[in-house]
Amino acid sequence: MPPPSADAPLILWFRRDLRLSDHPMLTAAVATGRPLIPVFLLDPETEAIGAAAKWRLGLSLADLSARLAARGARLILRRGPALAVLEALIAETGAAGVMWSRGYDGAGRARDSAVKAALRARGLIADSHPGFLLHEPWTVQTGQGGYYRVYTPYWNAVKDRPVAAALPAPHAWPAPAEWPGSDRLEDWHLGAAMRRGAAVCLTWQRVGEAAAQDRLAAFLADKIGPYREARDFPARDATSGLSENLTYGEISPRQIWHAGFRAMQEGAGGAQHFLKELVWREFAWHLMFHVPNLARDNWRPEWDGFPWRGDNEDAEAWRRGQTGEPLVDAALREMYVTGTMHNRARMVAASYLTKHLLTDWRVGLAWFADCLTDWDPAANAMGWQWVAGSGPDAAPYFRIFNPAGQAEKFDPGAQYRRRFVAELSAAPGETAQSWFRAVPRAWGLDPRAPYPAPRIGLAAGRARALDAYAGLKADTPREGLE
Ligand SMILES: Cc1cc2nc3c(=O)[nH]c(=O)nc-3n(C[C@H](O)[C@H](O)[C@H](O)COP(=O)(O)OP(=O)(O)OC[C@H]3O[C@@H](n4cnc5c(N)ncnc54)[C@H](O)[C@@H]3O)c2cc1C
Repeated sequence: MPPPSADAPLILWFRRDLRLSDHPMLTAAVATGRPLIPVFLLDPETEAIGAAAKWRLGLSLADLSARLAARGARLILRRGPALAVLEALIAETGAAGVMWSRGYDGAGRARDSAVKAALRARGLIADSHPGFLLHEPWTVQTGQGGYYRVYTPYWNAVKDRPVAAALPAPHAWPAPAEWPGSDRLEDWHLGAAMRRGAAVCLTWQRVGEAAAQDRLAAFLADKIGPYREARDFPARDATSGLSENLTYGEISPRQIWHAGFRAMQEGAGGAQHFLKELVWREFAWHLMFHVPNLARDNWRPEWDGFPWRGDNEDAEAWRRGQTGEPLVDAALREMYVTGTMHNRARMVAASYLTKHLLTDWRVGLAWFADCLTDWDPAANAMGWQWVAGSGPDAAPYFRIFNPAGQAEKFDPGAQYRRRFVAELSAAPGETAQSWFRAVPRAWGLDPRAPYPAPRIGLAAGRARALDAYAGLKADTPREGLE
């Protein structure tokens, strides 16, 4: 096949990189001088994501579409398996090939490798670019050339590594002579599985590139100083909230890193801790790149014999925010109403499910994946395995969060619990009441019903968990800790 002509367009395959600034793929594509055709594919992998993430993706696509339109470009939407759809688009447009930003999960990498091989075999451009992480996972290696299993050495390995400057958004680029046809975003019904929850959750979303930059600016202006101490208190608005925007690539980790680094140099108290949290995200993806089944299998194989309970009635009560443990219920309700959950609340809710309710961490992981608008496959898997005790660098199983003790310490005035659990107040606020409007009617919940009794006593649940743990054989990691 003859090489594509110099003025043949390029297809830009957008995925979790729905922004225009600090976008290495877009910058490289503009540098070719070719006309550009931005595309988003609803492929089977994307069809399969959870209800909240899929709905929130639609909001992000609408934002990117508007940003492109302001530059005289369009976002072309197509549905179907990636390679087949891309090949059809190439045939329709005479494109020279495709560029995309790399992903790091197992299924995505397999798909991308197949696309790359097939297009290159035809002499077409098929180039992948970074943009989702600060450091490509294979570039950070231990002294022995392996991957890091423990966070602190990982942090030490990357904390002084140079991070390239963020790239400006290109202002303009050539459009194709003719735009290919596009699906209509509304026809994809990305919010279908959210049902009535969408109307409630919508008010909590901060969608798109401009909103993400505003969020970063607001965090730097007011919150970064006390971040280290304040970040553990779920009633306080003390963290950045950027996980929602990072999930869809509305902001790049590089932009956040440089802003945090500057704040650290200017003496902002909590800045280094903030950078460390951002690096937990990096570490999660480093792990997922090297252990692609992180969301599926216990990282420590001896946990395969642990007597987890599969899905069960207690787990259903947990999902429905009806455990009778106010901090746990507040956490689950926060997630349903807002699409996110405070980090401390995530740890307490996950510990309660896996320890007091002795339920398999994968049951909880799946519910988070369905309800979080900041769902991140790597951070979610690492978080669940960390709490359960089965993961790399995990909390030891016998570290069982006591929800009542955690509530006393981190929600001393019960503001967080009352904000989300209507039954705890004589005159509940709008947020607590909105949860009843968001949950499925089929749950049959009535705001006037009394608050449920605890599913299990905290001492009894703890004792049962420790008994089960005593039966587990010695703690040997699957791949050997560093
Ligand atoms: C069981 C469990 C499940 C989790 N699932 C997810 C998930 O699906 N998506 C997700 O983004 N995070 C997840 N986390 C991590 C953490 O709870 C969220 O990243 C954090 O609450 C996001 O709020 P923020 O953006 O205000 O964070 P900030 O405190 O402002 O931190 C800045 C950024 O650092 C990163 N970060 C912070 N803490 C962590 C962490 N513990 N692990 C990985 N990255 C971190 C996030 O990208 C975050 O946006 C999970 C944690 C647990 C314990």
